[in-house]
Amino acid sequence: MITSPGKMTAARGLALDTSRQQQITPPRCTDPPPRNPYSRQNMSRYWSAVVHGLTPYVPGEQPKLDDLVKLNTNEHPYGPSPKALEAIRAATSDALRLYPDPNADALKAALAKRHGLQTKQIFVGNGSDEVLAHVFMALLKHDGPILFPDITYSFYPVYCGLYGVEYRTVPLADDFSIDPAAYCGQPGKTAKNEIGGIIFPNPNAPTGRLLPLAAIEQILQANPDTVIVVDEAYVDFGGETAIGLVGQYDNLLVVHTLSKSRSLAGLRIGFAVGHPDLVEALERVKNSFNSYPLDRLAIVGAVAAIEDDAWFQKTCAAVIATRDTLSADLAALGFEILPSAANFIFARHPQRDAAELAKALRERSIIVRHFKLPRIDQFLRITIGTEAECSALTAALRQIAT
Ligand code: PMP
Repeated sequence: MITSPGKMTAARGLALDTSRQQQITPPRCTDPPPRNPYSRQNMSRYWSAVVHGLTPYVPGEQPKLDDLVKLNTNEHPYGPSPKALEAIRAATSDALRLYPDPNADALKAALAKRHGLQTKQIFVGNGSDEVLAHVFMALLKHDGPILFPDITYSFYPVYCGLYGVEYRTVPLADDFSIDPAAYCGQPGKTAKNEIGGIIFPNPNAPTGRLLPLAAIEQILQANPDTVIVVDEAYVDFGGETAIGLVGQYDNLLVVHTLSKSRSLAGLRIGFAVGHPDLVEALERVKNSFNSYPLDRLAIVGAVAAIEDDAWFQKTCAAVIATRDTLSADLAALGFEILPSAANFIFARHPQRDAAELAKALRERSIIVRHFKLPRIDQFLRITIGTEAECSALTAALRQIAT
């Protein structure tokens, strides 16, 4: 309880409240030792109720070891556009003392040109994870629960926890594909006002399976009053983007990242495309959170990467070709591989335990991702690396699994 203010005197650079000072009783030597003030039990009393309730996302491991074949976090095996690197070098100057453009107008202009959009249809953020976080807060938090697949990007339930968004998961079909009918309400009954939104990645993660655009349109048409978010983190590796549909469906928001197909995971750039009013909702959240999510280097690097179409096409085509080779090689070793339109494959061996395979690979300095989750705990998610990395993986699996 606050009583009358005590007199403040400066001692050793600190302002002291002398009236309170007099009330302090020095500890007696028979007193029990003080509790460790830094113990977790003690310090967590300062946590807010929200923090106590959080189950944070656990990203794939980023080991600080050399000579690893790192096929666990879906990074691009080839570097970013040399033009992007050059632009970043050129911008590494005294100008870094200045804040960046809060609206990243140059990047929005480059994206608008590439996708045939107006800049007011584009939102940019610090990686698509940040864009998605704002989407959950700005567009998916309503009375009804949102829907997403039972097997999908595991950050979605984390955002729900953070923002108090209710959700229901929709089981994937037996072949691990998304069943559009499962998002279209009961036959003859509209999904209107019953759900707070729908979100799914396309291709889905970690399965890699692609939903055709016609199926996305089916979901859009069945849910005209619900925001539908399509997370296209991996679409450039074999899918068709839904960006072309945003003019037609004002409830569609498409989210992209430069982390995967543009090989800029380290720079953190994501964007969303949709009706200007959806974008405005995101801008409102962004401007209530961080005015400058993209730094000067990220903006110039992203612009140069977007403009370098030749590099983008060439490096994505190389990943797709290696994906085909790796899929065939692993199939020859007895693996079952889901059809993938992403820069990873999802594979299981009918006779070999996936956790043990992942462990045996790790002992050979090859890291892949294994999820201890229902329905998928016998799968390995393998990022497409360089040809040499994928050959090393195949050779190791030949030794381990045959
Ligand atoms: N969506 C999906 C489906 C992903 O797998 C990832 C990468 N973990 C992201 C979004 C986020 O990517 P970033 O934040 O690097 O843009």
